[in-house]
Amino acid sequence: MSKKIVIGNWKMNPASLKEAEKLFTETVKMLSDVKKTEVVICSPFLYLEKLKKISKKISLGAQNIFWEEVGAYTGEVSGDMVYNIGAKYVILGHSERRNFFGGGENNEIVNKKIKSAIKSGLIPIICVGENVRDENHEYLNFVKKQIEECFNGISKNSISKIIIAYEPVWAIGKGAYPATPEEFREMNIFIRKILSDKFGLSNIEGVRIIYGGSVDEKNALDFIIEGKADGFLPGRASLNPKKFSKIVKICETLNK
Ligand code: PEP
Repeated sequence: MSKKIVIGNWKMNPASLKEAEKLFTETVKMLSDVKKTEVVICSPFLYLEKLKKISKKISLGAQNIFWEEVGAYTGEVSGDMVYNIGAKYVILGHSERRNFFGGGENNEIVNKKIKSAIKSGLIPIICVGENVRDENHEYLNFVKKQIEECFNGISKNSISKIIIAYEPVWAIGKGAYPATPEEFREMNIFIRKILSDKFGLSNIEGVRIIYGGSVDEKNALDFIIEGKADGFLPGRASLNPKKFSKIVKICETLNK
């Protein structure tokens, strides 16, 4: 069984470096006794360098990269830049980037970014998930297409390094309800099957499939026990050190 991982997605928060340092420091303090769980904070680009100096206990990640290495791409940040600043992970294909205000990223763009992240030495966290659950189960085809297109041309060797976050869009954000652990479990099996068919691998146990979408300290345990989640990608809960650390500690008690 792989080590559980909890990845906080701060999104476009907080508004100042000072607040970011405070939030990170408080989070680090609350996790001082955590030894077996991998903890990652994906902060805005601007804060990564400073946060890196506060503690090595928590790994850092970005929330996006551009697929080119350097050049005339105004406003973009490359995988090399993120890696060279000391970050280890990058979230790619988050639903907020796939929608219109994130520039409408499609699977083809996410695929280019995954390849670029791997080339830069970053571990990609690929978000997939349907917008709605329809009665005809079309959402299964939607997720299958996301996985197949996002993983086009990725080598077999890279697969075990990638983390997949199943984040149904309907479960994300304020006022939303999380998926049930059973719904996640089903998707977990489904995603593993798609990967094993695509890559001809009989054993894809090494791929970590985590859950995101209104995760909190109350539902995390069930997602691991019943859903067999390898970890979590909390959004709002990552901005609350108490809640976030409780989620990590649930993983810690279950990590071997
Ligand atoms: C997310 O957007 O990645 C997310 C899971 O957000 P939240 O936990 O706030 O629903």
